[in-house]
Amino acid sequence: MSEPLSAIFERLIARTGPISLMHYMGEANARYYASRDPLGSGGDFITAPEISQMFGELIGVWLADMWFRAGRPAPVHYVELGPGRGTLARDALRAARGQGLDPQVHLVESSPALRGLQRAALPGATWHHDLASVPTDAPILLVANEFFDALPLRQLVMTEAGWRECMVGCESGRFVPVAGLQPMDIAVPEERRQAEPGTVIETSPAAASVMGEIAGRLAGQGGAALIVDYGHDAPRAGSTLQAVRAHQKVDPFEAPGEADLTTHVDFAALAGIAQASGCRWLGTVGQGAWLQAMGIDVRAASLARTAPGQAAVIEAQKQRLIAEDQMGILFKVMGLAGPGWPDGWGY
Ligand code: SAH
Repeated sequence: MSEPLSAIFERLIARTGPISLMHYMGEANARYYASRDPLGSGGDFITAPEISQMFGELIGVWLADMWFRAGRPAPVHYVELGPGRGTLARDALRAARGQGLDPQVHLVESSPALRGLQRAALPGATWHHDLASVPTDAPILLVANEFFDALPLRQLVMTEAGWRECMVGCESGRFVPVAGLQPMDIAVPEERRQAEPGTVIETSPAAASVMGEIAGRLAGQGGAALIVDYGHDAPRAGSTLQAVRAHQKVDPFEAPGEADLTTHVDFAALAGIAQASGCRWLGTVGQGAWLQAMGIDVRAASLARTAPGQAAVIEAQKQRLIAEDQMGILFKVMGLAGPGWPDGWGY
């Protein structure tokens, strides 16, 4: 057993003072994902592809349609960021192959435990630690579901003395959020600098950097991408950091490395970065509206005809994915494409 992350953090903080929330979140999630399968009913949380095969299938159909209308380039690469158990890729590739699209498969995954599960689900795939080693010779069809929400985030807080970075300190053996000592006003966009003490704003340098790389690839190699996550598409204030363990919200500072830490994705910021990098932003729409435009009702009806005994289950899974009070609105689907690639269905 390796030393608990909490002990490592405690020592580090005792020696050098509070660490940034971004450092805390990055290390905690790396440790969390490295050693376990967090998905499913026996795990900590469940994601759309684990709810129903319809989710991955409709993503596969969208990618195949883009590829077909772009003139069926070959070769072409399917790239997925943070593929979890490989369920989305398996469902999407099955649907895509049904439409004549049979891409090379590249999975960007840092967790050894999840790589093992992906290897079983997707024989023939190639694994990467980050996008840098994904081939540059052909267009990419890229998917990321609940990947960006797990990337480390920087929070800034307005104090009586101005803007400061949110840090994590340790008091009598407990981790606590504290404001940093370093002035950070310069890191806050000018139009947001005036704020009440206590106001928190979030930025994600890691998400910005991954987005910039995806967009640069789409601009240079061609292709299309779907980024699915929970988040907002207008600037907002307030902390969205949360921790989930065994399907319950828990204190993010309680057991670093033992719970999944996530934040809401700032889709407006990502769209701005994509466009600044020469890529086409097709739109950002609610997951419910997107899945309905892609024909989830027809797909659900067809699955129910094949398995009449499962009709109620299939309907419940569909509702979970699309209903406004479930994943339909909070989750969003952002579409991107390279210059000269078509507009996507659903936008
Ligand atoms: N997309 C899957 C899993 C979501 S969980 C699904 O929808 O079910 C987040 C995934 O991203 C996991 O596979 C995790 O190991 C991976 N991940 C998180 N941070 C990462 C990073 N910095 N680099 C590569 N993979 C990462």
